[in-house]
Amino acid sequence: MKQPNSVLSAFGTTVFEVMSRLAIEHKSVNLGQGFPDGNGPDDVRAKAAEALEGPPNQYPPMMGVPELRQAVAAHGKRFYDLDIDWETETMVTSGATESLAAALFGLLEPGDEVVLFEPLYDSYIPIVRRAGATEKLVRLEPPHWRLPEAELAAAFSSRTKAILLNTPLNPAGKVFTRAELEVIAGLVKQHDCYAICDEVYEHIVFDGLPHIPLMTLPGMRERCVRIGSAGKTFSLTGWKVGYMTAAPEVLATIAKAHQFLTFTTPPNLQHAVAFGLGKDDAYYTSLASDMQKKRDRLKDGLSKVGFETADCGGTYFLNADFRPLGFNGTDEDFCHHITVEAGVTAVPVSAFYQEGGPSHFARFCFCKEDATLDEAVARLAKHFG
Ligand code: PMP
Ligand code: GLN
Repeated sequence: MKQPNSVLSAFGTTVFEVMSRLAIEHKSVNLGQGFPDGNGPDDVRAKAAEALEGPPNQYPPMMGVPELRQAVAAHGKRFYDLDIDWETETMVTSGATESLAAALFGLLEPGDEVVLFEPLYDSYIPIVRRAGATEKLVRLEPPHWRLPEAELAAAFSSRTKAILLNTPLNPAGKVFTRAELEVIAGLVKQHDCYAICDEVYEHIVFDGLPHIPLMTLPGMRERCVRIGSAGKTFSLTGWKVGYMTAAPEVLATIAKAHQFLTFTTPPNLQHAVAFGLGKDDAYYTSLASDMQKKRDRLKDGLSKVGFETADCGGTYFLNADFRPLGFNGTDEDFCHHITVEAGVTAVPVSAFYQEGGPSHFARFCFCKEDATLDEAVARLAKHFG
């Protein structure tokens, strides 16, 4: 038999699936893969159920149902004062994962370069490479995840087609500041390229930090593709409804990729997400403040066990240095060890770096019921106590 595609066959199974399978096998408290253990807002689920009963349940329009596209545009105006034409500048996809893939396939040519920050979400590099482009990685290091400006500037070249920016950043929990975004915007303009902005955690930001879309900076409106996810904004990660905002010509090309990837997304979920995006300010404020309390709860618990936690201004994730516990081994060893021996699962942070990343941090997910977090901490305390 001839070989299947060499780019994709070179990658293993994603670390999230690997760790979740291990967690099930050992009946551990799973703080690995990032998903809430709640069931999302009742009213949003009720809308989805209602829409499932009534017709139509056939193919929705390729670009998304008008209500959701209008809601995406209104949400952009409400939170970021972006003026968005829903008909030419918004598109619905099957999760942010599909938005990312469509944007990369739509914009990249073989030979292009894409600048990305490490640690990075695991779907980026496989798609960049499958599109025939090459990644240029700029490394952020725990515990403060500072932006290395000189390295960033050096990663750009005449071949740079795009930067892929994830803020708030999974797994680091870093929220890029306006000053940092200005540096990035300057380079994007200087090199006349695009910015693909993964902003799925836009509403999960703590300590009064603002989430600033790169798209809102001067000169960036036409260059940015802004991506959101209902999975994160409504704590319904299984729904896989994503949405994208971009200038008309850019969006039109990305839509060409989308039409051959999934073409469309279940209509009832789209209607429910349209309703959800219109929820009042209290919903959004408590999403962030509830999650901040969970971060603090886990941070306190892990600190008492003896971990040293890294900075975390947003996302679902807290990274913890396990060296103070006296564990001598890699982060992979550590995450395997605590799953099997302590009954708690985390994800090794080195999985988010290509090579030679820090190997003494574990990523713990805190978007869980308080009792789940407390149980995880109690098990770790007992094991390391
Ligand atoms: N980007 C980042 C940074 C994520 O953490 C996730 C969550 N899985 C995604 C994209 C994918 O989002 P979705 O589930 O909507 O495809
Ligand atoms: N975004 C989630 C995480 O980072 C998992 C997504 C997935 O399992 N593909 O843990």
